[in-house]
Amino acid sequence: MSEPSTSSIAAINPFEVALRQLDEAAKLIKLDNGMQQILAHPKRVLTVSIPTKMDNGEIKVFTGFRSQHNDARGPFKGGIRYHPQVTIDEVKALSMWMTWKCAIADIPYGGGKGGIVCNPKEMSEDELERMTRRYAYSIADIIGPHRDIPAPDVYTGGKEMAWIMDTFSALKGNFVQPEIITGKPLAIGGSLGRNEATGRGLSFTVREAARKLKINMKTATVAVQGFGNAGQFAAQLVEEQGAKIIAASDSKGGIYNKSGLQVGALRKHKEKTGSVAGFPGAKATSNEDLLEIDCTILIPAALENQITKRNAGKVSAKIIAEAANGPTTPEADEILYKNESLVIPDILANGGGVTVSYFEWLQNLRREYWNEDQVNERLDKNITKAFTDVYGTHEKYGVNMRKASTLLAVGRVVEATKIRGLWP
Ligand code: NAD
Repeated sequence: MSEPSTSSIAAINPFEVALRQLDEAAKLIKLDNGMQQILAHPKRVLTVSIPTKMDNGEIKVFTGFRSQHNDARGPFKGGIRYHPQVTIDEVKALSMWMTWKCAIADIPYGGGKGGIVCNPKEMSEDELERMTRRYAYSIADIIGPHRDIPAPDVYTGGKEMAWIMDTFSALKGNFVQPEIITGKPLAIGGSLGRNEATGRGLSFTVREAARKLKINMKTATVAVQGFGNAGQFAAQLVEEQGAKIIAASDSKGGIYNKSGLQVGALRKHKEKTGSVAGFPGAKATSNEDLLEIDCTILIPAALENQITKRNAGKVSAKIIAEAANGPTTPEADEILYKNESLVIPDILANGGGVTVSYFEWLQNLRREYWNEDQVNERLDKNITKAFTDVYGTHEKYGVNMRKASTLLAVGRVVEATKIRGLWP
């Protein structure tokens, strides 16, 4: 479950950023205006009010959204977030980014996103359940296993997915439909390997980037900002490739040890104490300083807008693999590109999560279960191909990897849209 962010992309309107990125890609591929306009507008955005009985007997009305950006390549797909700062524009932007992410991963989905404006930290389990079920009921007519398949996002997880699956199944003829949602607990049709999927996918993109840049992973050093779900697994899996983790941080502080930190021991320390801070043998460092540490690979896995024009010039890493969504600002991107740091952008680097969600959906539709090796092997194949495709586009057009990702994705969505045509 992701940490809600306070620095949030809210400072900049995320939908405007998404439109600007689309515009840049459209210019590069000389997209006609009509097609660009289709992609600039989500196909459907639903706002719902969610009256919820609170534990004290009062009714509170929450606002929820579901944005369905594009389904030219397949059903809408994307998470549902619970956060006090959720806005309709944030949800629209995230749904557009999901369209691109699914297209890059080349999985047969479009993009969607949902959210409820609420503070789950201040709600009881019963209140959360009633709100979640009412939201599921309110969006039930526009979601479906072949229409729109939600998933977890900031502050939602397996528990909420189970309530949504149960509500939807009960509403639609009362038969079990696990394929309506992904990120479920294993007991009701979740997939093995889903927990680690984002970190694992990211580790494959790092491996491929190191190959391209002729970096030996056995001598590479790594700094990880945000030792949460995505960051921990990414750290563990690049360590398995031979790299040395020299710095890590979380919301309570950071640590640094030039000789290396053992991820297994660090995870145990965090489980026991609640933070990486105070790990024996390591020096303390701040989250800001961690980004500027002399290292080969930097993995931002916490919040948005961490690498900005102020600190980008001081980032020494040769590879920056974005586990978090939006950790680098557009100005910082330009600086990193000039300094020849290779940024593996979020929509490529963290695409492992949605890819294994797709595997979960496939397993549910077929009523079969794959073992963990099957999941991981297919993930490797998919993500490696996605990396190769984006890298090829980056070389072909002479643009940074982020622009290359959007370019590639827009091209794929446009092709599908054109082939399907406009009707009526
Ligand atoms: P998480 O809550 O498990 O971990 C986030 C970590 O960041 C925590 O350890 C938290 O302490 C730390 N953190 C918070 N504020 C910080 C700060 N100021 N400085 C340093 N660390 C800080 O969340 P997660 O699921 O690992 O998600 C992390 C990022 O990855 C988010 O941007 C999320 O959108 C993105 N992401 C996650 C997944 C996934 O499957 N988990 C998939 C795609 C994208």
